[in-house]
Amino acid sequence: MTRVLSGIKPTGHLTLGNYLGALRRWVEVDQHRSEALFCIVDLHALTVDHDPARVRRLTRRAATLLLAAGLDPERCTVFVQSHVDEHTRLSYLLECVATDGEMRRMIQYKEKAARERQRGRSVRLSLLTYPVLMAADILAYGADEVPVGDDQTQHVELARDLAVRFNQRYGHTFVVPRATRPKVAARVMNLQEPTSKMGKSDDSGPGIVHLLDEPETVRKKIMRAVTDSGRDVVHDREKRPGITNLLEILAACTGGDPKELCGAYASYGALKKDTAEAVVEVLKPLQARHRELCADPSYVDAVLRAGAERARRTARPTVDAAYRAIGL
Ligand code: ADP
Repeated sequence: MTRVLSGIKPTGHLTLGNYLGALRRWVEVDQHRSEALFCIVDLHALTVDHDPARVRRLTRRAATLLLAAGLDPERCTVFVQSHVDEHTRLSYLLECVATDGEMRRMIQYKEKAARERQRGRSVRLSLLTYPVLMAADILAYGADEVPVGDDQTQHVELARDLAVRFNQRYGHTFVVPRATRPKVAARVMNLQEPTSKMGKSDDSGPGIVHLLDEPETVRKKIMRAVTDSGRDVVHDREKRPGITNLLEILAACTGGDPKELCGAYASYGALKKDTAEAVVEVLKPLQARHRELCADPSYVDAVLRAGAERARRTARPTVDAAYRAIGL
């Protein structure tokens, strides 16, 4: 059976981008057709300036939202990365296989490091080595597939390279994983700046729809989305990023094809209205379930405890084998 692993960082409140780009497919596809593990990657939240209490709170909230969105602990494993030591154990071995040049070439590192410097902060070493820890997250579980949005494909490529290199040098140890991406909405853009992605770390801001936003807030954000100077509704990522983003969101929420949807709209206003309603409908059941789960915190605790145990059992043989293979 195919094994799938993916994760989400507790660096902010989960967004519509996280949902359409990743979470929805985990719920609708991955947990049904594969042995799936989903992880709140809290160690990755420490790579930039952070508040300890907030990381803990966001980890909990992310776990609750994953369950609220429909991940079923009977079908898949939901756990918190820092509860399973195998990730950091393996990460160090992979640091001995990766090169510093490889790390410095990572697009996300360059962008995030520049942002930290702009804010007058020093760049944590862990921001540079973060993709190695992510490779460890994947390789420890022998994952065949890693369902991610567009922004993460370079990191999955690195995990592949490290797996191949380790296997060649020290003998076959790791499954070589591959990234899988959604057909639609692989990159949901910020509603106010449709040339940058809707990222949860940017947190507040009218361009980001959060999964727990009230219907009225969702409507307001979408109705105020920046559109392009033309008037006709066309799908063109380069020339019409704002409208294309709305078409992608609407198509992802309704199961349509973004290009085919163009013909159905004579004005931007009508497209925005339908997009807002489609998003509100998608979020409604998730928000209701989230309220239920918040009323039963011991259930979430039990799921995470069982998840960590199962994850540990799955990862340990591979990580132990890697230690032996490398000479320890
Ligand atoms: P973020 O960038 O919001 O902090 P994470 O790094 O935690 O998100 O990513 C969690 C998952 O959500 C990844 O699979 C990532 O590719 C996906 N994802 C994040 N933002 C978007 C987006 N704007 N559009 C599509 N997918 C996204």
